[in-house]
Order: sequence, then C-alpha cells, then structure tokens
Amino acid sequence: MTVRVVVLGCGFGGVEVARTLRKETNELELVMVDRSTRFDYQPAYPELLSGKVTPEEISADLSTFAAKIGASFLHAEVQEIKFPAQTVTLGSIPAGKAQEVRYDFLVLALGAEQTFFGIPGAEEFSYTVDTMAAATETKSALDQREYTNAPNIFVIGGGLSGIEVAGELVDYLKARDAHAHIFLVEMMPRLLPGFPRETVSNYVSTFLRARGVEIMTNTAVQEVEKREITFRDGRKLPYELIIWTAGIKPSCLCEQLDLPKQKGWLNVDRYLRIAGMERVFAVGDAACFEAHGLRSGQNVEEAEAQGTRAARNILRTLRGARLRAYKPKNTIQNPRAIISLGDGKAVVYSNRFMFTTLGYRIKKFIERHYMMRFR
Ligand SMILES: Cc1cc2nc3c(=O)[nH]c(=O)nc-3n(C[C@H](O)[C@H](O)[C@H](O)COP(=O)(O)OP(=O)(O)OC[C@H]3O[C@@H](n4cnc5c(N)ncnc54)[C@H](O)[C@@H]3O)c2cc1C
Repeated sequence: MTVRVVVLGCGFGGVEVARTLRKETNELELVMVDRSTRFDYQPAYPELLSGKVTPEEISADLSTFAAKIGASFLHAEVQEIKFPAQTVTLGSIPAGKAQEVRYDFLVLALGAEQTFFGIPGAEEFSYTVDTMAAATETKSALDQREYTNAPNIFVIGGGLSGIEVAGELVDYLKARDAHAHIFLVEMMPRLLPGFPRETVSNYVSTFLRARGVEIMTNTAVQEVEKREITFRDGRKLPYELIIWTAGIKPSCLCEQLDLPKQKGWLNVDRYLRIAGMERVFAVGDAACFEAHGLRSGQNVEEAEAQGTRAARNILRTLRGARLRAYKPKNTIQNPRAIISLGDGKAVVYSNRFMFTTLGYRIKKFIERHYMMRFR
C-alpha cells in the first residue's frame, strides 16, 4: 500500500512540506488539508490596508497548487486527531459533514491565532489583520470612515505587524489627502521589544514619528468600550478605529490536543517530531522547537525551513536512514526581519547588520519570488 502523508494546514510550513516531499519522490500519496481554499502571503496583509496589493495578488488557489504537485487537497476543518488509530477527522466546509482520513505520516502545520489576552472589549471592538478576511474587513472599515475631524485610530502592538500597519495607515491617509491621529501603542518601553538591539527600535520610532504617528510605549490597554479605550495608567481616549496586532496564541485545535506543549505550542524533538511519536511532525508557528539554548521564532523563514527538514526526515524514516537534526535560523534570541515602514521604505534587520537601502524592494522581491511557485 502506498504510504500516505497528511499535511494539516497549508500555510508556509505545510506548503513547504508538500513541495519538498514531491520534489524528492513520486512514490508517496500526499494529502493537503486546509480550512481555507487559498494560500495567503500573510506578511503582505498590512499592505491591503493602503491598497498597494489586492487579495488576489497575495494569495493562490490551493487545489490548483496541489494538482500541480500531484497531491490531493481537502477543503475542510480539522476537527479531531486520533493518534492511536492514525486517523484525522475532517469536517467538510460549509456542510460540516465528517470524514475520517487515515495517515501513515502526519504533519501539523496549523499556525497561530490572534489573541486579545482576555482584555474586556478588545475582541468585540477591534479590527485585526491576522487573516485575509479580517484585513479586508479592516480596509472596508477604513474606507467607510469620515476623516473630517481627524479621528483617533489606535494600532495596538508595537511589534512587526503593528509597525507595518501604522506605516500603511499613513500611506492610506496621504493618498486620500485625509487626516487622522494614528497612535501606535506598545506595552513595553520600546517598539520591537522582541528584537535585542535597541538601534532598530529607535530608528523605527524616529521614522514613524516623522510621518506623524504618535508612539505610546509603556502603555497597556485595560479595556475597550464602544467609542473609548482605557489604558492601565487610567487614561481614557475616544477612538474611531482600533486595529489589534498584539499577540498570538496556538490554534484551538492544538490547544485541544493531548500532546506535550509549552504554553500551548507543540513541543517537538530535534527532528521536528512530536515528542514520543515517530510519525507525527509539527512545523511553523504551531511548533515549539528549542535546541542549544536557541528557540525558533514564529516567522516565515522558520516555518519554511522546518517544513523542508520535516519532509526530509519523513523520507529518511521511510528509508531507514538516520534523521537529521533541525538547526534554527531565525530565532527568538537572534531574530531577523524586513520591516516595512510605508512610503516605500523598509528596514532590514539582524543582530549583525541593519540597513534600509533597497529594503522595501528586497521585501517585495521575496514576496513575488515566493508567489511564483503557485503560478
Ligand atoms: C499581519 C502579519 C504580518 C506578518 N509579517 C511577517 C513578516 O514580515 N515576516 C515573517 O517572517 N513573518 C511574518 N508574519 C508571520 C508569518 O506569517 C507566520 O510566521 C507564518 O505564516 C507561519 O507559517 P505556518 O505555516 O506555521 O502557519 P500559517 O501560514 O498561518 O498556516 C496555517 C494554516 O493552517 C490552517 N488551519 C489552522 N487551523 C485549521 C483547522 N482546524 N483546520 C484546517 N486548517 C486549519 C490555516 O487556515 C492556515 O492556512 C506575519 C503574520 C501576520 C498575521
């Protein structure tokens, strides 16, 4: 019987697993599963707000991609995984009809979800950019607003996404000759608190301030009401729109799985297998990989590199070869990123270098190059 590999989640990690497996062999049956019919290039979501990209440009049909690599694609919600029986229960979309799929190897690549940290009113009253649907809705909300009285727009979270959203908002307003007060709110003392070097935080703050963004560091949200946001220091400010970018959490399904975890993220061994399971792997945001004091960051580079390594380790398992340990590249301790700031600028950052020349062009080149695999 042909060995069947089932990949749950077709984002950066899942797509890379399927692609690598198919590049190396035609002898496996490949099944790709996702609740969305399209792959989304998530790093470009902020640019949907300014209209620099359209949803079609930054997404691709997954069944076409699966057909191209000789895999099957199931548009379904993963509902349950029965590890002893080696089956996955899928609910068809939209009918919800359950279907059991058997696997020989399973890859969990289910990504992450937005969290609101249980802050009262935050989820109810905020817009987000964490999915294509959410970013499109946020763009519509921006389009429907009146800008005559320069309303307050709050971007919550001074990490990579929050910074990019703030930059795109400035571009959005500029293109319409409209005015709004944009506040970028960060709980920690500086923007990009997850990046060890302060130089990048200072550069980004100066750049955004010069573009009219008000940076509010050391500021935590306490509560959000219909028209008013309250901060922990007691300040209350009226708002027209809140765009929440702060924090991610494991997907609901991963939370339910009875597997070894760290704060809900799936613990994997050196070979990216779920601890104690030889035929179940996890990659990308959903996985928690740690070795020699380095922990993988939750970013595209890690999701892809883990996808490649997991696929190769599946093949090695089948051939009875010794597995190769994964070596993280873009870690929590030593992160690197290209952060778009709007106005055609981006800062390229790592612990060893930081530059802006051609930064935005490099970012767009990577995006276009990545999306080519679907065309
Ligand atoms: C706004 C934004 C900007 C970002 N910018 C950058 C950036 O500039 N650089 C960078 O490196 N990273 C960036 N990231 C992070 C990056 O997108 C993620 O790290 C990356 O997508 C992780 O890949 P993944 O395969 O683990 O998960 P994802 O790409 O999120 O894929 C997970 C897939 O699983 C599917 N899924 C989840 N649960 C189920 C279920 N129960 N049933 C069926 N399907 C399911 C989802 O539909 C999704 O397709 C950004 C993220 C966002 C939201």
